[in-house]
Amino acid sequence: MSWALIPLSEEQRAIQQTARDFATAELAPHSDRWDRDGGFDRTVADKLAELGFLGMMIPEAYDGLGLDTCTYLVALEEIAAVDASVAVLMSVHNSLPTQMVLRYGSEAQKERFLKPMARGEALGAFALSEPEAGSDAASLQAQAVLDGDHYVLNGVKAWVSHGSLADVILCMVRTDTPAERKGARGISTFLLTPDMKGLGIGKKEDKMGIRGDPTVQIVLEDVRVPKENLLGEEGMGFVYAMQSLESGRLGIAAQAIGIARSALEHSVRYAAERKQFNKPIKEFQAIQFKLADMATRVTASRALLYAAAAAKDRGEPITQFASMSKLMATETAMWVTTQAIQIFGGYGYVKEYPVERLFRDAKVTEIYEGTSEIQRIVIARELYAKS
Ligand SMILES: Cc1cc2nc3c(=O)[nH]c(=O)nc-3n(C[C@H](O)[C@H](O)[C@H](O)COP(=O)(O)OP(=O)(O)OC[C@H]3O[C@@H](n4cnc5c(N)ncnc54)[C@H](O)[C@@H]3O)c2cc1C
Repeated sequence: MSWALIPLSEEQRAIQQTARDFATAELAPHSDRWDRDGGFDRTVADKLAELGFLGMMIPEAYDGLGLDTCTYLVALEEIAAVDASVAVLMSVHNSLPTQMVLRYGSEAQKERFLKPMARGEALGAFALSEPEAGSDAASLQAQAVLDGDHYVLNGVKAWVSHGSLADVILCMVRTDTPAERKGARGISTFLLTPDMKGLGIGKKEDKMGIRGDPTVQIVLEDVRVPKENLLGEEGMGFVYAMQSLESGRLGIAAQAIGIARSALEHSVRYAAERKQFNKPIKEFQAIQFKLADMATRVTASRALLYAAAAAKDRGEPITQFASMSKLMATETAMWVTTQAIQIFGGYGYVKEYPVERLFRDAKVTEIYEGTSEIQRIVIARELYAKS
């Protein structure tokens, strides 16, 4: 589908082509198996690392590629168009753990955690949600208690994307006391590693979509974490997480656009091949109108996303635009994949054809990194903040 509205530089075109070729050669042959068997292994991340795709927005001084947000999103869309599960791994790693350490970590933490993550030798995960704390993430209950030069952590983190494959887990827990709760300001972020005694991988979710990327609970039982693994200031962890999720939402928007674009491209091809009443179904205006609306929504979502990403790269505030981009792109993905199934008819409803997986993969984009309802709350709140 045409990128004409977004003027890509030579470098961006080259990275787009690299991502496209990589996804076609290295991901497409395995995607159905990963979806069916419910999980890829760590080698997927190693392959992304070879291209530098796990350190795209990290400065070269910390072993990253030092690219801007727009270029990163161009690559991410190409990965998502082929395999949305690999795209969520790439999005979480690039937007959340790496960016949090870059922004708030000490030089020692950057040396120990950021550089290996930027090189892709260490895979990062983000553990904010809990079984009882989703949209209201500040109500999380996992607790850290200071004991000498260590914190002792207990609790259960839920829904951790590729938590079972991760080498570094950015984990949000309470550091206020049960007697003196401080709400969002009572939460801190710790850098955890899977070798820490008492850190266990709990239940693996059996999901509807993005089945390649394993989603797990992380169980913390008296995990002793050295003080030097506290990220930034005590009590600021929730603020750090929210600031990082803002740009994370751009990644989820790119993932959603990749899914939607893929569904559109498959639909355009299928409508030209499939004949009923002695003509290709693309000759029917009912199908043409669907394709036209699908293409319009994908193009509009991408235009909004790149406007928001460009604003971020200029250093402007993007709270509202990030939420608008995620809301529009993810609802577009769900709508476009629904239309794609309709265009494929019965063949859209079976696993033999690609749109069935795209439809299942699309749904979660409306849920994670803030549901559509939460994005609308943010957008509306910003309207009043500005007036
Ligand atoms: C596949 C997958 C991967 C994930 N990966 C991660 C991860 O890596 N790290 C992580 O920390 N989390 C992750 N999550 C968790 C995800 O961010 C949460 O699922 C999400 O924030 C919603 O929380 P919840 O599921 O508890 O739903 P709830 O918050 O219980 O929401 C239920 C419904 O109520 C609505 N609702 C809630 N509050 C309001 C309100 N104030 N106004 C209007 N409507 C409201 C919601 O929009 C939703 O429709 C993942 C989730 C999934 C499904």
